[in-house]
Amino acid sequence: MNIRFNCFPGGVFKALTLSYDDGTLHDIRLVSILNTYGIKATFHLNSGILDQEGYVSAKEVQSLYAGHEISVHTVSHPFLDELPREAIIHEVLEDRRALEHLSGYPVRGMSYPYGSYNEEVTKLLPALGIEYSRTVQSTGSFAMPQHPLEWNPTCHHNAMLKAGEQLIALTGDMPWKRKLSLLYVWGHSYEFENHGNWHEIESFCRMMSAQKDIWFATNMEIIDYQNALGRLQFSADRSLVHNPSAISVWITVDQSPVEIKPGELKQLKH
Ligand SMILES: [Zn+2]
Repeated sequence: MNIRFNCFPGGVFKALTLSYDDGTLHDIRLVSILNTYGIKATFHLNSGILDQEGYVSAKEVQSLYAGHEISVHTVSHPFLDELPREAIIHEVLEDRRALEHLSGYPVRGMSYPYGSYNEEVTKLLPALGIEYSRTVQSTGSFAMPQHPLEWNPTCHHNAMLKAGEQLIALTGDMPWKRKLSLLYVWGHSYEFENHGNWHEIESFCRMMSAQKDIWFATNMEIIDYQNALGRLQFSADRSLVHNPSAISVWITVDQSPVEIKPGELKQLKH
């Protein structure tokens, strides 16, 4: 039996996630475009900057970002690699606490302000409940994150249209071509306003939403799914699989996608 971990939910092998920083008022227009097309994003917010002029207000956070993910970007947007350990802990944990109070769910993701971090920072994050943190190092790659606490995106949104076309062009016509392929786009909503190119995100979302073989997910959903894949429990002969997670996991068995439901113990057939 040939088993491969190369499916996202629905048995597709492509996924798209977006990541937007800082929580300026331009997020309102961005969320409206994303919602029109059913595209999911993660919004990294500074709890100490909400309510300031030009920024989203604390009281609208929950309703504005409903259906998307709210994630840590620290309280005050410092260069984390210049801070004493105690200040790093405060900036991350206090942002989490404040954002959880506003969102109503555990906040487990993050992006680095200015993309700045060092080993000291990444070593502290697991103890602060952070499971991934995005950098600003674009890779041009569709690979899944190997080191989620240094999660390098595919590209800034300046390059999203080309990258989107590349993802769409990937085919699974040969079995070996079907591998988990994630397009991760990051940016700031105010850049669309500053550059007068809101039409680009509109075109991108229209193009991607027309695809039936791409999973649209938040950053955290990607990590949760990757973790759930890794938690599958197989019998030694691989004929039995148990999914101990609370979400469905899809695998390829002899070139066909198979769903293993939450908690399911499944006999795999040739
Ligand atoms: Zn920022």
